[in-house]
Amino acid sequence: NQAKQENRVVGRYTSDLEEKMAWKLGLIRQLRQDFEHKRLEVWYQPQLCFKTLEVVGCEALLRWPSGNGRYISPGIFVPLAENAGLIVDIGQWVLEQACEQQKKLAAIGKSISVAVNVSVPQFKVANYAQSVKDTLLEYQVDPKFIELEVTESVVMDEIGAVVETLRELQEFGVEVAIDDFGTGFSSLSYLQTLPFSRLKIDRAFIKDIPHSDSGAIAELVISLGRHLGRKTIAEGVETKEQSDLLKKMGCDEVQGFMYAKPMPSEALMMFLKNYKPKVN
Ligand code: C2E
Ligand code: MG
Ligand code: MG
Ligand code: MG
Repeated sequence: NQAKQENRVVGRYTSDLEEKMAWKLGLIRQLRQDFEHKRLEVWYQPQLCFKTLEVVGCEALLRWPSGNGRYISPGIFVPLAENAGLIVDIGQWVLEQACEQQKKLAAIGKSISVAVNVSVPQFKVANYAQSVKDTLLEYQVDPKFIELEVTESVVMDEIGAVVETLRELQEFGVEVAIDDFGTGFSSLSYLQTLPFSRLKIDRAFIKDIPHSDSGAIAELVISLGRHLGRKTIAEGVETKEQSDLLKKMGCDEVQGFMYAKPMPSEALMMFLKNYKPKVN
């Protein structure tokens, strides 16, 4: 009886796994097709200075329309694109979009930085730093307005090579931010060797403020940033309570639905044209 039961469990497990794999392969095929047909979009979420509430930058975020005005979350398809190797080409396209966006912003007198997320496989391509430099030169974008967001997973993958690549890019003038900081369980020692200018505090440490101890972690990251001479930016700020507290803790910048959601390129242009910092 028990053997029978185990069999059934194993059988069910296998078919679940197969189903999941088939679903993933289908998604990857569709993603590749939609990317080739230029159906992907890049949206932009404003980043503000806590003190002045001026918009100082924006983050480029991939959007994959699935029809009827709906979108498949990058949280789902970016990991798939990474595994399938697709993220290298998609990531290059996002960088080019970001360059075009930066130029459009500069053209209306709103020169703010545009941050781009970079995945592990992109760093593995030979001469990644050179390809970024070439792209910026081709688009004639001032490197100081382009920021690369790397996660701890990128850093820990091959710290020596990554440090070298990031240093080369930083020397060129590109900014570097550590994304989702504190979620990667990596040793803090890499902070001493890594070239970066901003720490992004993950939403995980923001979302339960003030109802849990996560505020203590946010405060720790802010003070770490201050001691290292780096800026800190809080991600995913949704309430005034969170915002007030983070500001009081000395956080430099903020990005979150409370201030602005990610929006298409044209909407960002309108947003910036009409935007007036309110008194905090
Ligand atoms: P991330 O880089 O940490 O991006 C921040 C995420 O937080 C975005 O989710 C953004 O929409 C969301 N967010 C910002 N403020 C709030 C808020 O107040 N409340 C809530 N609930 N969420 C907020 P999104 O756009 O779904 O992207 C998810 C992740 O997908 C990104 O996390 C990033 O890891 C990845 N991703 C997105 N675009 C790209 C890309 O072009 N390349 C790569 N490699 N990864 C990307
Ligand atoms: Mg990011
Ligand atoms: Mg993040
Ligand atoms: Mg995140």
